[in-house]
Amino acid sequence: MRQSNIILLASQNREKYEEFKTLFSSYPEVEITPANEYIRNLEGLKYVERHDTYLENAMAKARLVNQAANYASLADDSGLECAALGGKPGVRSHRYATPRPGLSQDEANTQFLIKEIGKSTRDARFVCTLVLLMEGIMLQATGVVEGTIIDCPRGKNGFGYDPVFVPKGSNKTFAEMTANEKNAISHRAKAVHALMNQVRTHAIVFAKP
Ligand code: IMP
Repeated sequence: MRQSNIILLASQNREKYEEFKTLFSSYPEVEITPANEYIRNLEGLKYVERHDTYLENAMAKARLVNQAANYASLADDSGLECAALGGKPGVRSHRYATPRPGLSQDEANTQFLIKEIGKSTRDARFVCTLVLLMEGIMLQATGVVEGTIIDCPRGKNGFGYDPVFVPKGSNKTFAEMTANEKNAISHRAKAVHALMNQVRTHAIVFAKP
């Protein structure tokens, strides 16, 4: 393993990278970099995300990147869990709806979700599990944010189900919030802080080259 404070993010999702970049700016001991800047063909990420738990998916993605580039790697797997649907779409959140012509995958997912919930309870939560892998050490952390699903999407920020998710204690959807407002309460933020708390507690060193 090279002596470096770089952590490669095992994700091709630009919006997620932007969130992680901001969240990790509170931790100057590490530098988050998209894995595709170091690894040319990251197609494999699509295929390892086939397990039944967030943890297994995150571990598989972190391993793939760590083995390909020999840097510390960070992977997240996240999803939306709706009470009315017995926790679905959960780990299948990204591939929930069948792709529909003229709609982005996020739009198709959101429309399908609203239809599936129908008149049932709107309670839902976002979950994010992170895995950090380096030099034989694996750390994991999970963050959760509770909220409700609304029928009519609102807001233009964020991604995924953000326009229909209103976190508890707010009257705005995640998509109506600024990046700072979402990052103050999100599942991803909670997971990052829990993870870095472990890094600091165990005095794990990310040395510069
Ligand atoms: P994955 O973690 O890349 O498998 O993607 C999880 C999917 O869950 C995303 O494609 C979104 O549909 C949804 N998701 C996860 N986190 C968020 C979020 O912060 N906002 C909106 N949707 C999210």
